[in-house]
Amino acid sequence: MASLRRRLPARPRTRFAPSPTGFLHLGHVVNALYVWGLARALGGEVVLRIEDHDRARCRPAYVEAILDDLAWLGFEATPLLDAQPAWRQSAHTPAYDDALAQLRAQGHALFWCECSRRDIQATAPAPAGAEVPYPMTCAARGLAQAPGRSLRLALGEGCETFDDGRLGLQAQAPRAQCGALLLVDRDACWTYQFAVTVDDLRHDIDLVVRGEDLLDSTGRQIQLGRLLGRPAPAVFVHHPLIRHAHGDKLSKSNRDTGVGDLRRAGWSPARVIGHAAWRVGLTPDEAPHAAAEAASLVVQTP
Ligand code: GLU
Repeated sequence: MASLRRRLPARPRTRFAPSPTGFLHLGHVVNALYVWGLARALGGEVVLRIEDHDRARCRPAYVEAILDDLAWLGFEATPLLDAQPAWRQSAHTPAYDDALAQLRAQGHALFWCECSRRDIQATAPAPAGAEVPYPMTCAARGLAQAPGRSLRLALGEGCETFDDGRLGLQAQAPRAQCGALLLVDRDACWTYQFAVTVDDLRHDIDLVVRGEDLLDSTGRQIQLGRLLGRPAPAVFVHHPLIRHAHGDKLSKSNRDTGVGDLRRAGWSPARVIGHAAWRVGLTPDEAPHAAAEAASLVVQTP
């Protein structure tokens, strides 16, 4: 990273947290470069967390393939507790139950909701893909828990500010952005926002390194973390994403960018890493680089 705009924590504990809803792709390789690169440059460690909170979309086969591709690339994580082969959210549901019980016990405004995504989208004209704040339709209805209902948390008014390690000072108003935070979805799965906040707290993560596409999530995660008793938020670094020529971000359905596909086509780990680094502007060309060079790729000395 050319300029780290603020001091990052010394000896941080950060995480690599893929969702096994697809195979590892070049976007993950860029994330791994930043995660391991910053952790190594700062003398810290990386824990591996499989974010399989979405039971409908996650597959064990993806977990195995992700672990295998990661090891092949040469990115090694510190094991979390005794988790074998990797720590998975789906094996720790009591922790999320406990966090929810804590929010209830503290009297935070939780409510069951029967609005579909389409109902919410219909309340405000917005460009495709833009977030429409939840209009609080069910907030005061006193609905009981029932199949097909989701659980939301009304957020506080006000702004969350944080100093992103790459982008500098950020100010976000979570309530204006999303209205109420979804904690449990209509399929009774914990949501990403809830599970990641609970886990970053209990795994003592003090440095979160992830793509710019998650920047808008940070204020709400800081607010939720505070409600859950986190004394100070983690430091966040949001890195650039690889984009296609037409500007879209990579997705798991882009088969041309799957690590497994490149592997089967005969690419070496260093070629995959070098290509990913170049696609995101970390290097001027596609020269191969090993995972062990991550620190020097992401933290350029002046
Ligand atoms: N599991 C998320 C993903 O694969 C990453 C979450 C995060 O870094 O906060 O996109």
